[in-house]
Amino acid sequence: MTASIIDGKAFAAALRGQVAGHVAALTAAHGIVPGLAVVLVGDDPASHVYVRSKGKMTVEVGMRSFEHRLPVDTDEATLLALIHQLNNDAQVHGILVQLPLPDHLNADLVINAIDPAKDVDGFHISNVGLLATGQKAMVPCTPLGCLLMLRAHHGSLAGMEAVVIGRSNIVGKPMAQLLLGDSCTVTLAHSRTRNLAEVVRRADIVVAAVGRAQMVPGDWIKPGATVIDVGINRVDAGEGKTRLVGDVDFDSASGVAGAITPVPGGVGPMTIACLLANTVTACCRANALPEPEGLTV
Ligand code: NDP
Repeated sequence: MTASIIDGKAFAAALRGQVAGHVAALTAAHGIVPGLAVVLVGDDPASHVYVRSKGKMTVEVGMRSFEHRLPVDTDEATLLALIHQLNNDAQVHGILVQLPLPDHLNADLVINAIDPAKDVDGFHISNVGLLATGQKAMVPCTPLGCLLMLRAHHGSLAGMEAVVIGRSNIVGKPMAQLLLGDSCTVTLAHSRTRNLAEVVRRADIVVAAVGRAQMVPGDWIKPGATVIDVGINRVDAGEGKTRLVGDVDFDSASGVAGAITPVPGGVGPMTIACLLANTVTACCRANALPEPEGLTV
């Protein structure tokens, strides 16, 4: 192996430490406690695990956590009424609606009902537009975490060739916007991209956000490139067990890349840390206080 490991777990722990420091300072100086509300509809076991873990970490950094668990048959009017209530609750600075929502609910409608200033997931159409036009936005947590790690590793990203594989609204597109904002030359690849291997071989930075286990082999990677693996795929590990792998074939890619994020322990832990960071940023903006350095871009 030649690549250095970008340790997302350590980055996330450091970021949570920074967040906790800012929360303590906000509380001491202004009597303000940032609050994060998470809304979960339905009984998807994985979503319940995520929400529990988000709630635990929210409290650990000194913030208020509000959890709203609604039954799977919750109707749109009830959900929208809850969001309206949270929009108007001064103790709530961040609102996150856990996705996916049950099929009978219109996710776009629900997300766009959140006050953009409290949209700590950065999915509201206003925040998407602000990010796309290079203005101050709430930035989606997963791409934000990737960018913070890339900046910490490289310093300036200006002029680098970046290839993002995957064009989803929650990862690929905002990731491409952020890299463009940092003056990379960005290619956004997807399932219809021709000669994907050749496209990826140009990249100084590869961000894989596809959802296909180990799809990117080492021989697609330019020697010395930095590889950020967003994918989380559960695969058979034999004897009735499973394990998590990324979208990149770690074993072959780590022999070629200059630096790489592992799965697990790479991008995943940074996502929740960035959610907490976004909540502090939203709280500071709501109270017209200076934003702490290093929590957003
Ligand atoms: P989506 O399914 O929404 O998007 C996948 C994208 O990959 C699409 O744009 C699709 O292209 C593209 N794609 C699919 N097959 C290929 C292919 N063969 N070649 C090139 N591109 C392809 O996924 P998400 O963006 O939501 O998530 C991507 C991965 O990241 C998943 O594994 C998910 O679990 C993980 N994830 C991890 C997070 C974390 O915290 N670490 C957070 C969020 C997601 P097209 O548009 O043409 O269909």
